[in-house]
Amino acid sequence: MKTQARVVVIGGGVVGCSVLYHLTKMGWSDVMLLERSELTSGSTWHAAGGFHTLNSDTNMAALQGYTIRLYRELEQITGMSCGLHHVGGVTLAADQDRLDMLIAERAKHRYMGLETEIVGPEEIARIAPVTNADGILGGLYDPLDGHLDPSGTTHAYAKAARMAGAEIVTHCMVTATDPRADGGWDVVTDKGTVVCEHVVNAGGLWAREVAAMAGLYLPLHPMEHQYIVTDDIPEIYERAAEHPHVMDPAGESYLRQEGRGLCIGFYEQTCRPWAVDGTPWNFGHELLPDDLDKIEDSVAFAYRRFPVLERAGVKSVIHGPFTFAPDGNPLVGPVPGLRGYWSACAVMAGFSQGGGVGKALAEWMVEGEPENDVFAMDVARFGDWTGPDWTRLKVTENYQRRFSVSYPNEELPVARPLDTTPAYGIWDAQRAVFGSGYGMEHVNYFARPGEARFETPSFRRSNAFDTVGEECRAVRGAVGLNEIHNFGKYRVSGPNAVDWLNRIMANRVPDVGRMALTAMLSPKGKIIGDFTMMRLAGDVVQLTASYSAQAFHMRWFLQHQEDGVSIENISKKLLGFQIAGPNARAVLAAATGADVSTGALPFLSVRRLAIGHIPVTVARVSYTGDLGYEIYCHRDHQVALHGALAEAGAGHDMRPFGMRAMMSLRLEKGFGSWMAEYRPDYTPAETGLDRFVSFRKNDFIGRDPAMRERDTPPARRLTTFIVEAGDADVVAYEPIFDGDDVIGFCTSGGYAHAARKSVAIGFLPTDRIADGAPFDIEILGQRRRAIVQTAPLFDPQALRMRG
Ligand SMILES: Cc1cc2nc3c(=O)[nH]c(=O)nc-3n(C[C@H](O)[C@H](O)[C@H](O)COP(=O)(O)OP(=O)(O)OC[C@H]3O[C@@H](n4cnc5c(N)ncnc54)[C@H](O)[C@@H]3O)c2cc1C
Repeated sequence: MKTQARVVVIGGGVVGCSVLYHLTKMGWSDVMLLERSELTSGSTWHAAGGFHTLNSDTNMAALQGYTIRLYRELEQITGMSCGLHHVGGVTLAADQDRLDMLIAERAKHRYMGLETEIVGPEEIARIAPVTNADGILGGLYDPLDGHLDPSGTTHAYAKAARMAGAEIVTHCMVTATDPRADGGWDVVTDKGTVVCEHVVNAGGLWAREVAAMAGLYLPLHPMEHQYIVTDDIPEIYERAAEHPHVMDPAGESYLRQEGRGLCIGFYEQTCRPWAVDGTPWNFGHELLPDDLDKIEDSVAFAYRRFPVLERAGVKSVIHGPFTFAPDGNPLVGPVPGLRGYWSACAVMAGFSQGGGVGKALAEWMVEGEPENDVFAMDVARFGDWTGPDWTRLKVTENYQRRFSVSYPNEELPVARPLDTTPAYGIWDAQRAVFGSGYGMEHVNYFARPGEARFETPSFRRSNAFDTVGEECRAVRGAVGLNEIHNFGKYRVSGPNAVDWLNRIMANRVPDVGRMALTAMLSPKGKIIGDFTMMRLAGDVVQLTASYSAQAFHMRWFLQHQEDGVSIENISKKLLGFQIAGPNARAVLAAATGADVSTGALPFLSVRRLAIGHIPVTVARVSYTGDLGYEIYCHRDHQVALHGALAEAGAGHDMRPFGMRAMMSLRLEKGFGSWMAEYRPDYTPAETGLDRFVSFRKNDFIGRDPAMRERDTPPARRLTTFIVEAGDADVVAYEPIFDGDDVIGFCTSGGYAHAARKSVAIGFLPTDRIADGAPFDIEILGQRRRAIVQTAPLFDPQALRMRG
């Protein structure tokens, strides 16, 4: 065993082996994998081996598509068999919401190049004849679905990596990972120590324990999972071809052919987290005891859906644990705060996702960033607010919801509230309907007296529609007040703060007392942040960006930090409110007594003021696109500040509004939002963020690709559409048609209540963007006319915003 390597991968399950293979594929051959037992000794050996592309996140779906296509490549390289069975699969819809969801998925697949199709009950009975299609409305057929041999596939990854120079050491237990003074790691094992630059935690069932060796907590938890293999079934072995997979979300089951019988697994409501106190090191190549009582209801349902099962004997029961993150997606990437430490953990569908995880991680390590946006599985999408109990509850909820319909407006209830601001009680008393993001509660809208304080999950306009409309019109007609806690906020200070920011951000740091919007770019010129910079003093700049990107942004900042620059995440320390609407200035004037006229406080200026006895920082900007102000205060002063603003607003028809209204108002200004319009898949020129790039600056990250894009305009650009919608608006990823050709897709949309129009934002080929040009957008399976609208619907000359 060698004692030095560029990379040490800990764990020889399917994920570790995939990471190792992809590192060699990208040219790093000085890499090794350490496995405490034999390869596949965690969850991998007892997996059912099924794979599919279906994932509500399109980038995850694309990674799953990559994984599935990779298996043939592995077979060719190694001459080994992965035991592939490309039999196709159908996901059943037993109610309209499920069918709506599948139709929406199918729509996304159109521009992803996936050949899925919606099929009716008769077709389902024909292609998957063991299914009792009574009550089934339809389904989504995916020809790429299939299954494989988990062990053969893992060994094929391993062999391909070895062939390219990687070393794999089995029966080698890692007992410690210690950071070295030179920035590398000592990986201590029972066979000696390996010195390396990078450590990859692919510890699977033991990922928590491996993380703890580096003093790290990763939000993941193992769950017990069970599937049953039947004896031979004549209806199966008499068929000429293999039976396709059937996913039955109503029965929370997946079914496929196994040999001459069937194999069926369940995501039961009565599920159990496993090894709550930690995975025992002596858990070996073993299964958990059968527990058919736990899945009794699911089995009874399956007998009705697949009647042949009732007549079939049980050949074996496989009951084993595997790990999940709170939202079911993997935890991948550089771990914030630890140099050279990478996570490849919580991969709950190793045979659908393992290849994509390996590819993305290897690109990240070798090239500095993954080719595609992988935020949906970035380990930094969670922050330091997670803990074991929260994770266990959320993982259990996620397991139970594995086959649930996911609605775009849905707020999941478990383990809430977690983080709240001091204003929470004020909103609660005003009948707030809360949502949560990144652990923090925020107001979605305020239920009117007599209305339920619950928004019905729906793909269509919800019960909150009219109420949110009122909030929007109150802002545009008078003034609204909204909490601005869910911005990520950072204080960058020190003698080199401004120079450093001028290198990190694409726009120029503004003068003292001014603010500037800016893109933050990766070296490849992709958008990794949309920030507001407020210059509070010569060497102090406050940044604001998306609340949910805090760990993601802090990781980037700390990776690039230089001497003379201090960076503090003040997101929870600095709270406040925005007031927006034509009466906003009058409210602010009444609250401060200071001169807040446009001359004294022009658009994009920032001032320290006092509201009553409370010191605040006022920024003349509002994401509503209206006349508006963001008013920041210390967390301890928030309730007092609310009191002062409420008093000042009383004579000006001020009312509170929530995030639903906020997102509706920004649409009618065509303002983009993080992870919808601005994300690491897109570039400044594609999204219009090039307005906030200073091309005269010589030196900032991402400058070269941004310059190239300026000289050669991109093939696609974002534009806004007015949609002739029915009772459902655009959410995201709906295809845009020109005749029968899909020529673009939507990034977000909704109903612009004040303008009383359904609005979508999406990508079109640059040469097709012309005011009034007609296209169609598919919403829930129906083509809707969509007319390009190049000017903002509200205040196109920005007279209100700047006046
Ligand atoms: C019953 C069941 C059915 C499933 N069916 C499917 C399916 O149909 N399709 C699908 O895609 N997925 C399925 N899965 C999930 C799948 O098994 C996992 O996604 C996958 O195995 C995760 O692989 P991994 O490499 O991350 O982890 P693991 O397989 O757990 O591998 C981790 C490895 O790390 C090693 N290790 C840990 N700590 C150390 C240490 N300190 N030193 C050295 N080595 C260490 C372990 O020995 C182990 O070999 C199923 C899981 C179960 C339980």
